[in-house]
Amino acid sequence: MASVRHTKILIIGSGPAGYTAAIYAARAALAPVLVSGLQPGGQLTITTDVENWPGETSIMGPELMLKMESQARAVGTEIVSDIIASVDFSRRPFVATADSGTVWHADTVVIATGASARWLGLDSETRLRGKGVSACATCDGFFFRGKHVAVVGGGNTAVEEALFLTNFAQQVTLIHRRGELRADKTNQARLFANPKIAMVWNAAVTDITGSHGVEGILLTDTVTGDNRSLAVDGLFVAIGHDPATALFAGQVAMDSEGYILTAPDSTATSVPGVFAAGDVQDKVYRQAVTAAGRGCMAALEAERFLAHAADHAEQVAA
Ligand code: NDP
Repeated sequence: MASVRHTKILIIGSGPAGYTAAIYAARAALAPVLVSGLQPGGQLTITTDVENWPGETSIMGPELMLKMESQARAVGTEIVSDIIASVDFSRRPFVATADSGTVWHADTVVIATGASARWLGLDSETRLRGKGVSACATCDGFFFRGKHVAVVGGGNTAVEEALFLTNFAQQVTLIHRRGELRADKTNQARLFANPKIAMVWNAAVTDITGSHGVEGILLTDTVTGDNRSLAVDGLFVAIGHDPATALFAGQVAMDSEGYILTAPDSTATSVPGVFAAGDVQDKVYRQAVTAAGRGCMAALEAERFLAHAADHAEQVAA
């Protein structure tokens, strides 16, 4: 039989936004429940060194997330390993049903489900995923010791993946569809200084060859339209992310790309009492530290929302 549980604040997602919301909500004595989702710890669990988290000159992503989790627990968060499968924000309290069958009734909700890697959309990419095609150098780089791998993308992720892969691969080729990288200058300087990395500019990956593993890629010049093949043993796709918001379709307002819309200088969504924080609503900064800041705001706003609701109930009773 499905168990029904009530919480003042339900936090969905366990990245920096979710854990920070949990820490603030727990310290406000709201006894938050955090449902950790498909990838506990979020995107930082598939990152290596994090060098821009204040207070840590260098820390591994998974270690940083374990520290956040343990802090959230220590201050009184109940962390539940489960996946929310559906939500109903038209009812009060809000309803969120988990894969396990647990039905959560929540006075407020913080959506912190983050974002996930984008793929090129090639059939060969789907066929060879896990057989040489990957979106996570941290997870799969080890398998390419002494090999030649390609990375596609021009942002900070692509550059960092390429740099990380030089720890294993003999050669790394970075392929970008334009003639200029989007990555920041510090990362670019590191990239261009690395003798193991070669650049291919103005090229799109239009096919991946190989039956049981990657043997090569087909490149189409985005200026001339010319095709050429490049022999590689692996392809890492690093072309950005999509927000994990399918669950909330029709429940809260989103933009055309599926990012949850929040009020200016606020985490308030289109539904009073539902807040959104982190990569799920931020396509500009997308940093752990900005996600954490938003998580803090969401908890403070949820606390205020609950206090106003309690005041209102008292006035009605009086
Ligand atoms: P970005 O959106 O910054 O970059 C995506 C890259 O992929 C762009 O260069 C884009 O090309 C390219 N691209 C997108 N779609 C395709 C496609 N279909 N085919 C080929 N290329 C494509 O994403 P990132 O994941 O790199 O970074 C996300 C955010 O996280 C950014 O704000 C970034 O700065 C930040 N970040 C910061 C880090 C740090 O500070 N250490 C580390 C990693 C990420 P184009 O340039 O032509 O649009």
